[in-house]
Amino acid sequence: MALSIIEDARLETIEEYRLCFSLADAPGCGWCFLCDAAGNVDEAALHPDGLDNLRMCRAGQGRSGGAIVCDGVVCEQRTIRIPVLARCHCGARLELASSWLNTCDACGRDYDGSGTALAPRHHWGEETGEHWAELVAL
Ligand SMILES: [Zn+2]
Repeated sequence: MALSIIEDARLETIEEYRLCFSLADAPGCGWCFLCDAAGNVDEAALHPDGLDNLRMCRAGQGRSGGAIVCDGVVCEQRTIRIPVLARCHCGARLELASSWLNTCDACGRDYDGSGTALAPRHHWGEETGEHWAELVAL
């Protein structure tokens, strides 16, 4: 018996912005800081060393005296996969993130990636002589 699906798997595109700087005499070498679309860096979220680097970049001069140029805001799009959200027979919500084994946190039932209930683990490996714990560790 298959599970009822609460939400189908879907792809979601997320955008991340980075404010980038590079050394004028070494293009490709530089620093990037997570920021918003307008280039505002959340300075409170930076590590103190990162904040030092940001201030150095904004000042336009590296520690060895070389000029630093601002390359502007770079937008990177990443596509992430949101797994199927299903309802376990016990009523709990369960993500089918793995293609072959998904375990309900609430009741411990196992399902494959399509939401079909798997045999209890103590039956696993009966045909091959393996112990179920070896299969789970794969
Ligand atoms: Zn369950």
